[in-house]
Amino acid sequence: MNIKYIDEVEIRDKKVLLRVDFNVPLTTDGSVAQDLRIKYALPTIERLLKNGNQLILISYLGRPKGRDIGFSLAPVVKRLQELIAGYKIALVDDFLSEPGQKQIASQDKNEILVLENIRFYSEEKENDKNFIKRLAELGQVYVNDAFSVCHREEASVVGIPTLIPGYGGLSLKKEITMLSSVLQDPKKPVVVILGGAKISTKINLISRLMTISDTFLIGGGMATTFLCAHGVQVGKSLYENTALDEARKILALAKEKNTLIVLPQEVVVGDRNDPKSARIFKKLTELTENDTILDIGPNAEAVYRSHITKAETIIWNGPMGYYENPIFAHGTESIFDAITQNTHATSVVGGGDTVAAILDEKHLDKITHISTGGGAMLEYIEKGTLPGIEALKKRS
Ligand code: ADP
Ligand code: MG
Repeated sequence: MNIKYIDEVEIRDKKVLLRVDFNVPLTTDGSVAQDLRIKYALPTIERLLKNGNQLILISYLGRPKGRDIGFSLAPVVKRLQELIAGYKIALVDDFLSEPGQKQIASQDKNEILVLENIRFYSEEKENDKNFIKRLAELGQVYVNDAFSVCHREEASVVGIPTLIPGYGGLSLKKEITMLSSVLQDPKKPVVVILGGAKISTKINLISRLMTISDTFLIGGGMATTFLCAHGVQVGKSLYENTALDEARKILALAKEKNTLIVLPQEVVVGDRNDPKSARIFKKLTELTENDTILDIGPNAEAVYRSHITKAETIIWNGPMGYYENPIFAHGTESIFDAITQNTHATSVVGGGDTVAAILDEKHLDKITHISTGGGAMLEYIEKGTLPGIEALKKRS
């Protein structure tokens, strides 16, 4: 059975519980710093409103331990009010309380309600039966437009659609359509760019991607572990001692599958905590025990860019270096730039840090698909589905 999306069914004049991902970064003075995730939800919101539905939005923000006003969705409500004309957006402080229940019961035709941070309730993560019931009672239909939380077995993700009919939103549809087409029938050559901190958390991902890819371009801390497995002196660099065997297995598997694994032959060393650190280029043979690898070098950038130029499908997860210090963000930026310049390829980019690293760049629209899901995207690639997606197949 497949999910039904909201543009494939008639949802009209209903009370709709809409699960969105409004987990946005806030500024120090408590306003929305980056509203991309809010904007992703707008097509679904607008479509449901057009059909006369009344919306109750559900999201979490951050990692509050219980009710903590520092994690309130109030700033999101404010931003949403600026983005949606003709509707009043109101926050429901506590939907379980009597005032909350009254506010929901008397929801105006031109009003959109937003439930306060769903993680203020510990029952959300516990996927608590009674809590699910209290949520499901608020609406007649459930719509999930939050791909990035679909790997979580939580009340507002997998619970509600066990009790009322559940459908996928338009942003969820785009995510799933893009990712599944790239995984099932990618145009070749397929170039996978992998970076980030660790191999160990991404082994299943690598194995899955190995089945479709022609070339792997490796950077970040992940590259260091591979280099170490090759016997390179990596000094004080971040690498995973415990993953060396896995790294060797991956290299062997790649040989077997005829997948080219490209490692940087030149790296950048420096001091990651120093905002004015020198950016020293070193060949692998020049590394000493005092060096810390923090980025791929210009020579590696050039090699990687030439592979990216020839690709027809590009999948990228993981920064090429310690991008949090702008001095070591060069490799990551260069990869991003190369992808945006390849206009014939389908490109999919995802991962919490990867997306954070490129969000301020220009030409984001030149990427075919930027996944909103970090963990969700990785798990989807590995398993081909997610609990939140399966939950929508049960009763739609
Ligand atoms: P994503 O969230 O996109 O999946 P990861 O969480 O796997 O990516 O990895 C991102 C982290 O890896 C960042 O904090 C980045 O600083 C770190 N990282 C990448 N390369 C290096 C390196 N050479 N040394 C230290 N940290 C690195
Ligand atoms: Mg991360």
